[in-house]
Amino acid sequence: MFQRGLTFGSAGNISVRLEDGWLMTPTNVSLGELDPARLAHLGPDGQLLEGDAPTKEAFLHRVMYAGRTDAEAVVHLHSTHSVAVSCLADLDPDDVLPPITAYYVMRVGRLPLVPYFPPGDTKLAEAVRPLVGRHHAVLLANHGPVVAGTSLTAAAGAIEELEETARLFLLLQGHRVRSLTPAQVDELRARYG
Ligand SMILES: [Zn+2]
Repeated sequence: MFQRGLTFGSAGNISVRLEDGWLMTPTNVSLGELDPARLAHLGPDGQLLEGDAPTKEAFLHRVMYAGRTDAEAVVHLHSTHSVAVSCLADLDPDDVLPPITAYYVMRVGRLPLVPYFPPGDTKLAEAVRPLVGRHHAVLLANHGPVVAGTSLTAAAGAIEELEETARLFLLLQGHRVRSLTPAQVDELRARYG
């Protein structure tokens, strides 16, 4: 993800579920310079068992896992186009991006907007909590996306699809757009869940 330009500085964090807790990227580390031996290993109550201190946004990951028993990995990025969309006025908070491509519908689906709270504010977790049962992807206003997946590959693929869709959405601003119709979206959901 770092090499693809989806993250920069020490922004962005990744976690995977383990049998006895989670592995999480440490705080203040570039995703381009991760040391496997220093990843934060958290126990079932979120306590640090070994490795460096986890990302300050660990609570965002925990709230995704708590709401989705099928989540095996969570990725959160400050990827540029997704953040740009999260700053636009007049978004539909129930579904931020239109269904412009089939792969967006299949990998991301509906994307709710979570109201803005300062990073690290636990109110952010409370705002995310009621959404995660119905959504594996959410967009934090003026901040960035959080995506859960049934594997790390699935979560990474979905957040990359979201970022590219956000880029397309911005490219299409000012153009007349033919999004997929409700019937076309329903057909994709019926076929690919
Ligand atoms: Zn963040």
